[in-house]
Amino acid sequence: MAHPGLASRLLRWFDRHKRDLPWRREPRDPYHVWLSEVMLQQTQVATVIPYFERWVRRFPTLDALAAAPLDEVLKLWEGLGYYARARNFHAAAQIVVRDYGGQLPRTVEGLMALPGVGRYTAGAIASLAFGARAPVLDGNVRRVLSRVFGLGRPSEAELWALAESLLPQDRTGAFNEALMELGATICTPRAPQCSACPLRTMCKAYASGDPEAYPAKPAKRATPHYEVLTAVIIDSAGRVLLGRRPRDGLLGGLWEFVSSELRTPDANARKRSHTDPTDLTDPSDLTDLIASRSGLKVKAGNAEPLGAVKHAFTHFKLTRRVWLVRLPAPGRTPPLTNGYDRLIWAAPEEVERLALTRSDRRIWEMYRARPPSLFD
Ligand code: SF4
Repeated sequence: MAHPGLASRLLRWFDRHKRDLPWRREPRDPYHVWLSEVMLQQTQVATVIPYFERWVRRFPTLDALAAAPLDEVLKLWEGLGYYARARNFHAAAQIVVRDYGGQLPRTVEGLMALPGVGRYTAGAIASLAFGARAPVLDGNVRRVLSRVFGLGRPSEAELWALAESLLPQDRTGAFNEALMELGATICTPRAPQCSACPLRTMCKAYASGDPEAYPAKPAKRATPHYEVLTAVIIDSAGRVLLGRRPRDGLLGGLWEFVSSELRTPDANARKRSHTDPTDLTDPSDLTDLIASRSGLKVKAGNAEPLGAVKHAFTHFKLTRRVWLVRLPAPGRTPPLTNGYDRLIWAAPEEVERLALTRSDRRIWEMYRARPPSLFD
């Protein structure tokens, strides 16, 4: 199925048009290649660049990363989302330092033995950093191959085999990067710039007159929508109650304001008001929420609605209904930590320093930006 001339055209184009990105500086540092691949999963290049630069300043080597506490790693990742990537990367760096003398394995199999490293990431590191003959298959490569070869609903196995069959003898890393670059900059999901594409004359999707039809779009599934009640509880010393999510779950290791799901996913939720935090919320729910998650008995009758915060994950959406609860006395140590691995009373400076989930960071900013009240 391979097409003669495809690799050489693509490489020529890449040599002239590739973007100058911080992780592409020669000589390639395997740690930088790995870090960029992890950060770029599900995240745009423009978003990643400042995170990447900050990261390598703070952790210039794998040893420095492996020696850092997870809290600091998560704080530096804050805002990039998909935090399992950071936790796995940190754990994998510790394994590389402890078991491999700080040198990354050079083969796909060796790399895939590390936490969080799948076939795609292993192929990218092995080919880009070590010149191995290993294919890659990400969303960009999937789209380019489906279009060039006119595949409507190709299987993963078919695409991996195709990507492997196209690899040139030399410069496999540059070839893989070129395929991804073409998908990211020219063969985009919508409105591909076929007139600037080096593969146009061999592209079946282009010849069909409707390149966007390849690959066929999967049928859309309804996205579950969760409603979450959140209490920003401030004590008389201005400290706020924060819970750390258990390490193994979603957003593990990050801090949040005490929260609990209001009800089960509801397809009709989007029809309701999403900006009014009082919608669906009964103040007694707040008393119950605080008691069930922390064991603290708090009268929430005077709670003030702070706002609603929406957040979309890959497979579901959240609307958080946020209330401000003021305590007339210093906060007591919570007798319970139900569903959190820790609960703390944090001073405002500490809230700035801790790694919060993205929506909790927005909630904190919302709290800080509200007009001053008699209590401030
Ligand atoms: S010709 Fe168009 S559809 Fe085909 S690979 Fe190039 S940009 Fe994509």
